[in-house]
Amino acid sequence: MTSKTPTQTRRLANERLCCDAPGCMLNRNYIGRFCLKHTVAFRRHGHAAGHSVSRATLASYRTLFETFLDEHHNHPAVAAAIDWMERLLKLGTSRASSVHSELDRLWHGGLRGREALTAVGAVVLWSFYYPSDIPDDDRLTFSMARHLTLCRSQDRQFSGIRSGGKAKHWYRQPTTKTLRELGSLLRSTLGGFFRQVIEQLEEKDRATLALADALRTPFTTNATAPALAEPVRSHEQDQTNV
Ligand SMILES: [Zn+2]
Repeated sequence: MTSKTPTQTRRLANERLCCDAPGCMLNRNYIGRFCLKHTVAFRRHGHAAGHSVSRATLASYRTLFETFLDEHHNHPAVAAAIDWMERLLKLGTSRASSVHSELDRLWHGGLRGREALTAVGAVVLWSFYYPSDIPDDDRLTFSMARHLTLCRSQDRQFSGIRSGGKAKHWYRQPTTKTLRELGSLLRSTLGGFFRQVIEQLEEKDRATLALADALRTPFTTNATAPALAEPVRSHEQDQTNV
């Protein structure tokens, strides 16, 4: 009987333990903290409880963000954010980083600063309005990066022929390291800008609510009716009443 290596021994011991994700009763996968399902979620979304939010779900938030950019197109913060995003796509990061190849792919796919900023901004707005769906932790960091990389199709690789004769392909997904690095870069640079956008949108919401409240004010006598003018009394009446 062959003896087990230290890694095999560690793996066997670990796989008898329960997954670390709250409420999950499955066994751990390999030498990690989670079962296979939660390991995949952790790698893709930065958190065992993370999940995908589709581009279709974010469509109305992209529109909201674009409208904001249109309304403030002369503001220096908007111009600076678009310019930074465009330079990031064009120049990339260190060539050794896997982030660089993702940015290069997006730039050569025709992605430019405004569209990229809108894609990331929509995720930030969604997270703000639905914090239970994308909490402000690694899940937001990963989502910002993922939705930027989804602005253009992933590299497609041929992987064989289906039984019906059609070609099969797989799409190269950004790695966990790439998503974490790219998301962290976006958050550290654009975090202040996005906070300003949210404050401005909240201010607009408050003004809209205040107007709606004012328009719903009941037409009660005390609240809105002007004081009635005293009836004009004639000199003759005064004489009669004496
Ligand atoms: Zn699990």
